[in-house]
Amino acid sequence: MDDLSRRNLLKATAAAGAGAVVLPGIAAAGTQGMAGNGPGSSSSASTTSEKHRSAKTPPAELTGRIVRPQDPAYAKATLGWDELFVHYPLVIVFAQETRDVVNALTWARQNDVALRVRSGRHSLEGWSNVDNGIVIDISELKWARIDTARLTATVGAGLSQLEAVTTLGKQDLAVTTGSEGSVGLSGATLGGGFGFLTRYLGMACDSLIAAEIVVASGADGAKAIRVDLNNNPDLLWALRGAGNGNFGIVTSLTYKVAPIKSVAYVQATWDGLNDLHRIFNAYQYTAPFADNRLGTQLEIHKPQILLFAVLVNGSEARAKELLAPILSIGNPDVMAQKGGWGDIYARFQIPITKEPANWKFFSQFTTEPFPRKAISVVGSFMHDAPTDDSNYFVQAFGGAVKTSEPPGGTAFPHRDALFYAEPGAGWGTRGDEESGDPITPKAQAWTAEFSQALRPYVNGAYVNVPNIGMLDWETAYWGSNFDRLRKIKAKYDLHNVFQYEQSIPPAPC
Ligand SMILES: Cc1cc2nc3c(=O)[nH]c(=O)nc-3n(C[C@H](O)[C@H](O)[C@H](O)COP(=O)(O)OP(=O)(O)OC[C@H]3O[C@@H](n4cnc5c(N)ncnc54)[C@H](O)[C@@H]3O)c2cc1C
Repeated sequence: MDDLSRRNLLKATAAAGAGAVVLPGIAAAGTQGMAGNGPGSSSSASTTSEKHRSAKTPPAELTGRIVRPQDPAYAKATLGWDELFVHYPLVIVFAQETRDVVNALTWARQNDVALRVRSGRHSLEGWSNVDNGIVIDISELKWARIDTARLTATVGAGLSQLEAVTTLGKQDLAVTTGSEGSVGLSGATLGGGFGFLTRYLGMACDSLIAAEIVVASGADGAKAIRVDLNNNPDLLWALRGAGNGNFGIVTSLTYKVAPIKSVAYVQATWDGLNDLHRIFNAYQYTAPFADNRLGTQLEIHKPQILLFAVLVNGSEARAKELLAPILSIGNPDVMAQKGGWGDIYARFQIPITKEPANWKFFSQFTTEPFPRKAISVVGSFMHDAPTDDSNYFVQAFGGAVKTSEPPGGTAFPHRDALFYAEPGAGWGTRGDEESGDPITPKAQAWTAEFSQALRPYVNGAYVNVPNIGMLDWETAYWGSNFDRLRKIKAKYDLHNVFQYEQSIPPAPC
């Protein structure tokens, strides 16, 4: 009925709008599907198309699996996880090897086309996509090389978190990841990356020991470089917490991995919000200070409060013992099980199709326990939540994230956080043409007002869950590291090729 719904608009624009633009190298491209699933060559672009007088690098042609607006695959290829944001790129390049990324970046520079880097498509402001530009998508770079003797794993940057956790899990190995399997491993790691293993192993970026990254080179070219403690160590530092779309396109990541034999998983549910004060208080005085092997999340919804916990290399009984100050409140429904980390992780995933279509979050870190007044703010906003899927999410910090940083350090600054938290509104049905649009203004306002009401009690924000309306986002994300990040940006991306709404600007020369 509604011909102007966002989905119809997407199809209409895909067929007619951006596709009208013709640029050198794109017309001949098509779907090429180049083979190769290992690290690609580290070379500059050298393929040729029609002559570009201003180009100093030979004119580049797009390679890889290429999707353009007139292709039937376009609508699916452009859709992000958060359907609140819809973009119409001129072309999407699904890289099959590093060379495709080098070619795409060179092509974008030579043709002066806006570019975005994309992996798992979970950017919470839709910033991994762009209207009328090129999306360089590395999600098909899926491979893994695990060195069990050295306890390292080098992976293609296109793995999802679920793929990474289950691949490593088969060898009883692990790195920290976030808890949502469909999130891109590189997108999460490059902004920090926390989850159930954070208190045991630190942030995901703490385990990043090397990377291959395609950076801008010369006046209009691109090249792949290696980053580790001996090669470009300043960039390794920057990629550990500030690497998302700022310096280049990461094509592979090498992690230090840890042996994990098994985990105990506990889930507790309280009906309603009646016990909120006591549960929150017990949580904030227990979870951030518990045995480092215990990782926990508290999720407060209007109809219920949920506690999730993972104890590394421990029993269900021991996990419940560590959680006793929280579990002893009220009458929660408690479930516990033990298994390999890969299996447990796969089991608690919720299929994307069952998640709301639209989401709006606001991220905040907290270094002091919430006073009663702050918990009341949480209670009153949750009472008025726009939908039952909307929630206040809390992740306990402390443990390894506080006590140990890797050699070379990281750009991720929030080491003293007691916990991370975010109000998040979720609404609308996936695949539904209407997509919950009538709730959109209410959900947006609820998230903004909720986070504003908590401002007296929080400090700092998480770049992976960006706060669009925040004036001091630079220091909120990176604290005093921001000036150093600007200098590193000037060194590796002087012309500011990699830019988006909250990207790091190069320091003035
Ligand atoms: C449902 C959900 C749950 C989440 N849970 C957690 C959690 O438990 N813990 C946590 O830490 N975070 C969590 N996050 C935040 C998540 O870490 C970020 O959204 C992350 O940046 C998404 O990465 P992506 O690759 O999926 O997204 P994309 O949209 O593909 O990319 C996100 C950003 O990273 C950049 N980027 C992606 N790949 C590369 C690359 N290879 N090289 C350079 N830049 C790149 C993009 O340009 C973009 O700026 C969650 C997000 C969602 C939506």
